[in-house]
Amino acid sequence: MIICKTRSDLTKKRLDIDFQNKVGFVPTMGNLHSGHLSLVDHSMNENEVTIVSIFVNPLQFAPHEDFDKYPRTLEKDLELLKNIEKSFSDKTIIVFAPEAKEVFEPGYKARITIDGLNKVSEGQDRPEHFDGVTTVVYRLFQLTKPHTAYFGKKDFQQQLLIKKMVKDLMLPVVIKALPTVRETSGLALSSRNNYLSDEEKKEGLQLYEALKHIGLMIKNQFSSFGKILPEQIKEECAVMMKQNLSFTYLEARDANSFDVIDETTMAIVVLGAYRVGEIRILDNLEVQLGALSGA
Ligand code: AMP
Repeated sequence: MIICKTRSDLTKKRLDIDFQNKVGFVPTMGNLHSGHLSLVDHSMNENEVTIVSIFVNPLQFAPHEDFDKYPRTLEKDLELLKNIEKSFSDKTIIVFAPEAKEVFEPGYKARITIDGLNKVSEGQDRPEHFDGVTTVVYRLFQLTKPHTAYFGKKDFQQQLLIKKMVKDLMLPVVIKALPTVRETSGLALSSRNNYLSDEEKKEGLQLYEALKHIGLMIKNQFSSFGKILPEQIKEECAVMMKQNLSFTYLEARDANSFDVIDETTMAIVVLGAYRVGEIRILDNLEVQLGALSGA
C-alpha cells in the first residue's frame, strides 16, 4: 500500500501507473466502516489500482457543524485498507491522506455549483454543503484522474450531484453508485453513528421506519390504481413530520432527475433527515415501480 500525504507525491505516484491499468477512486472522509469498504472492494474488483482519499473536507461543513470533532482515525483506517489489499494479491491501494492546505491552498476561492440541485432536500438545511462536496470531488478527480469513481447511495442526493457535475463539465470519469450498507437493525452505517448511544441508535431507526412506510404506501398506490398519488404521498410525509418534530425533512423525489414526483414517476427515492440530539441522521429508500420490484 502506498500512502501519499502531499499533492505532489500523489501526482508522481499517479504518473507511475501504467497507462494500461485501470484506476478506481473512492473519496472518503475516513473513519472507515463497512459502507466505505464495500466501495473499496468494488473498486478493487474492477481496477488494477484503487486510490482512496481520506480527507475531512472543510468546505462542506457550516461553521456550526462538527468539522473539528469529526472522527479522525487514520491509523485504524490504514489497517482496514491494508487488509483489503492483502486479499487482492496483484492489486494496489494508494491512500491520499492530505492536510487541508494540500487540497485547498491558502487563498483558494473557486467553487463548483450544481444549480438548483444543491439547494433542495439536504441542501435546504445546509445551503453551502453541496458546493463544498462538488468542489472537493472535482479537485480530487483532477489529482487522481480515475477511470471510475465509487460513491454510496447512502448519500443519494450527493451521488446525483456528482453525476450531474461529471455530465455538465464533461469529466472523463464513470460514476458508480452502490447500495447502502446497514447494521442488522436497519440503521444505515455512518461515521456519525459513533456519536450515538444504543438508545439513540434505536431512536434514529424512526427515520428508516418512516421511509419504509412511505415506500410501502407508494407501492400500494401503484398496485391499486396503476399510478401513484403524489398529493397523498406529500400529505402523509407532512403528517409524519408534524407528529414527530425530529424529522428535518421527509419527501419523495424522482430518483433520476431529483424532480418532485408526479403520477408518472416510476423510479422514486424517499429521503429524509432526522435529528437525534445534536446528530442528524440521513437516509433514503429507492422504490422502483413497474416491471422491477421495489428496493
Ligand atoms: P463519507 O466518508 O461519509 O464522506 O463517505 C464516503 C463515501 O462512502 C460516500 O460515497 C458515501 O456515500 C459512502 N458511504 C457512507 N456510508 C455508507 C453506507 N452505509 N453504505 C454505502 N456507502 C456509504
